[in-house]
Amino acid sequence: MRTRPHRGTRMNYAETFQNAVAALRDEKRYRVFADLERVAGAYPRAIWRAENGLQREITVWCSNDYLGMGQHPDVINALTEATRTMGAGAGGTRNISGTNHPLVELEAELADLHGKDAALVFTSGFVSNEAAISTIAKLLPDCLILSDQLNHASMIAGVRGGGTAKKIWRHNDLEHLEDLLRTAGRERAKLIVFESVYSMDGDVAPIERIADLADKYNALTYIDEVHAVGMYGERGAGICERDGVMDRIDIIEGTMAKAFGVMGGYVAASDSIVDAIRSYAPGFIFTTALPPGLAAAACTSIRHLKTSQAERTAHQRQAQRTKDFLRAAGLPVMPSETHIVPVLVADPDQCKKASDYLLERHGVYIQPINYPTVPRGTERLRITPTPLHTDALIDHLCHALVDTWQALGLSTGAVNGQAQIEDGMGPAPAIYPAAGG
Ligand SMILES: *Cc1c(COP(=O)(O)O)cnc(C)c1O
Repeated sequence: MRTRPHRGTRMNYAETFQNAVAALRDEKRYRVFADLERVAGAYPRAIWRAENGLQREITVWCSNDYLGMGQHPDVINALTEATRTMGAGAGGTRNISGTNHPLVELEAELADLHGKDAALVFTSGFVSNEAAISTIAKLLPDCLILSDQLNHASMIAGVRGGGTAKKIWRHNDLEHLEDLLRTAGRERAKLIVFESVYSMDGDVAPIERIADLADKYNALTYIDEVHAVGMYGERGAGICERDGVMDRIDIIEGTMAKAFGVMGGYVAASDSIVDAIRSYAPGFIFTTALPPGLAAAACTSIRHLKTSQAERTAHQRQAQRTKDFLRAAGLPVMPSETHIVPVLVADPDQCKKASDYLLERHGVYIQPINYPTVPRGTERLRITPTPLHTDALIDHLCHALVDTWQALGLSTGAVNGQAQIEDGMGPAPAIYPAAGG
């Protein structure tokens, strides 16, 4: 697909694009999106429109709306109320048309959440990483970026966009990170970029020890808490809050699109860092601001999760229960320290087939995760239980997976754990009444 046409032959544009996509099909990693309609108030139920035109009610097991906050009645009300009173769109970039007041409130809420001077909101978490990392790197003279090997694509985009020198450190490997820091020396500007929860494996970075190294070698620290905000810590500020190290990290990045259930990304940091990003980042300056409805909805969700523990407690319970039941049933659940439940398939074609079978036969929707999202040979089903996945739904999932593994002859080896199912967890708590509308 990457071969150049011979001299004198004309470029065939359509064929080039078709060949590029055909290569993905050959590798069995062509992406197909299920046509779903979520039903507010019935989470995690959704309506699936199959290719044959039939509609079916199914259960979603792979949403990043980790706590169901996208359907919380207060969040829906905040969105509709702000939209009704202030309109649908933001009306422009913040430079052109000012800042909608809900954004001012949202940024204050986020700064408070993370115990920082200030916060800055972007249209997505992807944009916040790309814009903030590249801008910080550009502003620091001769900056060296030290980036964890498994960082998200949006962080890699930021690292590349900075255009400065970079070194990749082996995932969560402190010795390797220290080697690279030592080689760079204390004098040089250094930015360490990493995540708290790595969302494909569900493992967690040794944040405190990374902060110790940053102090020792005088480096700046940037953490992506996208898969932790709302879910960990007393007020839902993430793993840094849980581990008591929020003040040890210079820049904390998060999203309002996952556990907060809405949309938009942000960074929280010192006044000087936030003001520099605000003033220099093209990905902040030259794009229309988040609309008032989304800002108000995100703010409501964050405020709710600052005080309510019910969602977090139930989330952890249902995630642990899912892991325990699946392991006890002999399924190859990969080790995960968090709410993410990855089940290994180790083949892209089988992974897609398992996903299709689960949906068609059992009404269970779990998107296959293939390369390049995860390394080849570690293709998996990534399951994300929420507080709204009841014990009965977990039972159903377990039976559906066992049937799928048998029907397709999938391997149960490799990572098979011997976890016992714990008793005494009580019934799944009811979190909140059905959302209106
Ligand atoms: C999803 C994700 C992002 C991007 O957040 P969005 O708000 O969805 O754009 C950033 N970092 C990580 C680790 C993610 O998984």
